[in-house]
Amino acid sequence: MTTPAVPVLPLRPELADEVPYGAPQLDVPVLLNVNENPFAPSEEVVATIAASVAEAARGLNRYPDRDFPGLRQDLADFLAVESGVRLDPSQVWAANGSNEVMLHLLQAFGGPGRTAVSFAPTYSMYPEYARDTHTRWVTGRRAEDFTIDPAAAVALIEAERPSVVLLASPNNPTGTALPRETLEAVLDAAARVPAVVVVDEAYAEFRREGTPSALDLLADHPHLAVTRTMSKAFAAAGMRLGYLAASTALVDALRVVRLPYHLSAVTQAAARAALAHRDSLLAQVADLRAQRDALVAWLRTQRAGGRALQVAETDANFVLFGTFDDRHAVWQGLLDRGVLIRETGPEGWLRVSVGTPAETRAFQDALTDVIAQEEL
Ligand SMILES: *Cc1c(COP(=O)(O)O)cnc(C)c1O
Repeated sequence: MTTPAVPVLPLRPELADEVPYGAPQLDVPVLLNVNENPFAPSEEVVATIAASVAEAARGLNRYPDRDFPGLRQDLADFLAVESGVRLDPSQVWAANGSNEVMLHLLQAFGGPGRTAVSFAPTYSMYPEYARDTHTRWVTGRRAEDFTIDPAAAVALIEAERPSVVLLASPNNPTGTALPRETLEAVLDAAARVPAVVVVDEAYAEFRREGTPSALDLLADHPHLAVTRTMSKAFAAAGMRLGYLAASTALVDALRVVRLPYHLSAVTQAAARAALAHRDSLLAQVADLRAQRDALVAWLRTQRAGGRALQVAETDANFVLFGTFDDRHAVWQGLLDRGVLIRETGPEGWLRVSVGTPAETRAFQDALTDVIAQEEL
């Protein structure tokens, strides 16, 4: 018997050709590719976070609170102010980014022999959570304007009988919010299966006047989960703090599958300190929304390849626009001019995040230049 010189790793076959997920992280002056808030926290916020983390550090010999009631209370208080829906802290859950919240959801409600349903184009991470939890992944198609047809959604849920339905509102990469009637139709169909309906509201704070949040449907729908994050409007992507609002029964199911002590004492302290400064951290949101609307209007006046640009309706802090015969050339042309955006979404489309006014102007100048070059 000889031992082989090169040991073979018993990797799951479905992972064999996979690569780690990630948007390119390139060092260029204008970063408009991952929908972050372009404004860094103020020195006052930084000082509060530093003091809270120092206090937490004094107890780092102990494990953190596994159920973090203080942070859940603070998050419930924030939601009450942001959307007028008052929840008990037992209805709130948190993890290291809403990515981890989503993994908890699929660990508890997905799994072998089970199905998760969503509607493409949507967030490219969703199929990865399904793969990692051995959950079958099925996508319906969104309409031409990126909305979801309620009748088609109900038909798909009835045909596939999923245990999880995943809907981003506003949707990434399109910016499309979910109308109340569509969500209610999905909730009714899902209740009959039964399936948990997850509404991913990562960008909800940027929604336009009159666009609803799913939070006010929680009281009547114990199978609804609404996820939020501090990564986007809250200007704290580096914190890694995502959270969820749902019925207490649903949250209790997530507590079963989470790793013990998954949320470090340092993260809990930093998040609570940031939440105490919510007004200052969210101060730029109104500006970003106004800039978003101005950017949409500007893009709609532009032409490329002999036709007017199309721009998707957006309730988020980013804009999907196109179409280009060679979108990669446009993306590369912008990058060559120091502006990084995202080559994502349906063929021919590109996505740009709203930056500071100077960054948005740099993007507009670069795009004007690239389109002119292309037409030479
Ligand atoms: C950015 C984003 C998130 C946020 O993920 P975090 O892990 O909280 O940073 C969630 N959902 C969608 C659709 C996103 O675009």
